[in-house]
Amino acid sequence: MPLYEYLSETPGDPSKSCIRCSRGFELRRPVERPALELCPLCKNPVRKVVSRVHSPRVAKPFSAKAAKNAGFTVLEKRDEGVFEKL
Ligand SMILES: [Zn+2]
Repeated sequence: MPLYEYLSETPGDPSKSCIRCSRGFELRRPVERPALELCPLCKNPVRKVVSRVHSPRVAKPFSAKAAKNAGFTVLEKRDEGVFEKL
């Protein structure tokens, strides 16, 4: 189930948003359900926020030498994989 993020249409207006939607909240909803239009708490309009892209931080690959120094066994690929035709 995808996780959607919702935010009040009027996050700066305390009379038209509650503590949850003024800060934005996340909600899991089945894809087939229509987007949430009202805050479940205060019933004021909310809009769906395009999900933040959680881009994983790519770790800098360390060199084989550094890996060996760190105690890892370094395996080097010597040839391409052999595929058997089925
Ligand atoms: Zn609210």
